[in-house]
Amino acid sequence: MKTKPTAEPLTSAFDGYTRTLLDELGSDGAGETPPPEDVNRAASLLDTARKNDLTGPIVELFAYLLEQKRSSGYTPSAFGVDGQTLIDLARKHEAIDEHLVSIGGRLTQALPIAADANDRVDAYLREKDEVAPSGIEIWDTILENQQRIKKKLSMSDSDWNSFQGQIRCAIDSVETLADLIDLPPQAIEMISRVTKAYRMRITPYYTSLIMPGRINDPIMLQSIPTGEMIDNAGVEIPPVAADHSPARLIDQFYPRVVTIKATNMCAMYCTHCLRIAHIGRKDKVYSREAYIEAIDYIRANDRIRDVLITGGDAFVLPNPMIRWILEQLDTIDHVTVKRLGTRVPVTAPMRVDSELLDILEESNDQKPIRVVTQINTAQEITPVSRNAFRRISKRCFTVLNQAVLLKGINDSRVKMWKLCETIQEAYVRPYYIFNCSYRNPQFTHFRVPIEVGRDIVESMYGNISGDAIPRYIATAGGKIPLHRSNVVSAEDHSYTLRKPWNGQQVSYPDADPELYNNDLFAFKNY
Ligand SMILES: *Cc1c(COP(=O)(O)O)cnc(C)c1O
Ligand code: SF4
Repeated sequence: MKTKPTAEPLTSAFDGYTRTLLDELGSDGAGETPPPEDVNRAASLLDTARKNDLTGPIVELFAYLLEQKRSSGYTPSAFGVDGQTLIDLARKHEAIDEHLVSIGGRLTQALPIAADANDRVDAYLREKDEVAPSGIEIWDTILENQQRIKKKLSMSDSDWNSFQGQIRCAIDSVETLADLIDLPPQAIEMISRVTKAYRMRITPYYTSLIMPGRINDPIMLQSIPTGEMIDNAGVEIPPVAADHSPARLIDQFYPRVVTIKATNMCAMYCTHCLRIAHIGRKDKVYSREAYIEAIDYIRANDRIRDVLITGGDAFVLPNPMIRWILEQLDTIDHVTVKRLGTRVPVTAPMRVDSELLDILEESNDQKPIRVVTQINTAQEITPVSRNAFRRISKRCFTVLNQAVLLKGINDSRVKMWKLCETIQEAYVRPYYIFNCSYRNPQFTHFRVPIEVGRDIVESMYGNISGDAIPRYIATAGGKIPLHRSNVVSAEDHSYTLRKPWNGQQVSYPDADPELYNNDLFAFKNY
């Protein structure tokens, strides 16, 4: 499209941004002559801007002229660009742009805003792969670890690739562990002391995620018990929560959601486990009567619509058992959503076999299923776990993640942003970040101040996809959101809001209450 030259400089046809831009550039008083190479540069930019029906070259020319004006005081006419030419090009810019964006708006508003936004993520982009590498990025090292561990534990490929093999060869003694990873002698001593009180079990697969030579590797911190677990204590671990178990295997805080603690087993025992009093110690197979009592409780309470099967770890249950529980729930009319809580896709992803996927899909076809997991670092996302999540997501729904905020593991912006982005790329949606509970003395050394957690979660707004931002939660007899309010003040119908990513305040007029309370609206008017 060619624009017709106009007789007079009608700057009033432009928006405020463009009028200000044209005023700032000015056109008179050429003054000194710029260096010839600069004049040539402007001439070439002008030529390109005129010849093409593109917005880019016009923006480039205006940006160059503006920069010359601001840094050296040269006006456009010193470069042989008169006022009428600028007006024509400004008009052409608006005519080309599908959304009628003006040159002034784009150059003086939109581009600087985008540049500021870029500044906010620079440090993250520089540090993320060094500070918080994903299991996909360090896969070569993980494979080397795997070879070493497989050999030491005399595991065949089929042992390694089967859940049974992973559980059979799971590491539960410090002697075996010390043979697989580097542990200083004092650490060995400490682990054997603590494992007298706390059970250790780490799958060979999860052990292979530990990076050699890394002090306080986040995988080690999550899976290998340390001295603090008993030294912290002095206090008894609170008894099994009798205060919110209205029926056998059931926990209930809410009217419409309950959990069934369907097993006390996990593929790997976490050092920060909130349910440490329920799980570990000894694997128990629950009786059929226990499950039936739990299901009867749900059947008899028709307000319950959402049932969360947890443990322990729901995927540790054998397939026929998972199928049976889901079938039972599917026969209850008022149960409309089922959730399964499991860490197995990151601790032993080979468990996610096609039989399990069939079971999930079949039940999901009856009523929706959600699989809820716990991933605390990007390091836990490997090509294998990503594949497990991809397959689950494909057969029922995107997996949801409940991370726990843990000192040294994920308590910085870079680590948490990287976690959230990496899991999103692995078909998992960040759902919650739990503040590490105050109730269990065995992990007070992992606790992070709420203010630090808030800073981390707030820093995500505007900087990573909204879909990858979890909610920050304290668990205290139910889940309590910890987000800071972004309402600075509220007067009459006008709010002042704060942008979480830069603190900037904006005014936000509220809905008019009078209008809202007027019931005579829409079709009632006729
Ligand atoms: C976590 C939990 C739930 C589920 O809470 P949502 O916020 O719906 O995910 C329900 N009951 C108990 C006892 C829980 O611990
Ligand atoms: S997987 Fe869950 S229940 Fe099992 S030990 Fe870890 S935190 Fe506890």
